[in-house]
Amino acid sequence: MHEFSIIEGLFESLLNAAKENRLIKVNKITIQIGELRQVVPEFLEFAFKKIAENTVFSGAELIIEKITVQIYCKTCDKKFIVKDNIYACPKCNSVAIDILTGKEIILKTIEGEK
Ligand SMILES: [Zn+2]
Repeated sequence: MHEFSIIEGLFESLLNAAKENRLIKVNKITIQIGELRQVVPEFLEFAFKKIAENTVFSGAELIIEKITVQIYCKTCDKKFIVKDNIYACPKCNSVAIDILTGKEIILKTIEGEK
């Protein structure tokens, strides 16, 4: 279950964000995760709940926003959204592509009480 390592990797910045905003209790956080990370939201919530125990994040709501995978076709010089896990240009079928988005793990917002 790599969801645990994702939350663990994020937790340091979560704690710092809470500290910077002088929050004594966090109610809600929103994170954005690229679809290439292939996370299961339920596992992510479970991992968060476990890791958040006995911290200011205990009981906080976790909102997960997915970031779609975007590719750039070098042949067409155009951007496309990937559908059905097909990593080729939908227009010319070229596999000479760059992956632009989809690997992100971003802490978007954090809300709580001061
Ligand atoms: Zn193309």
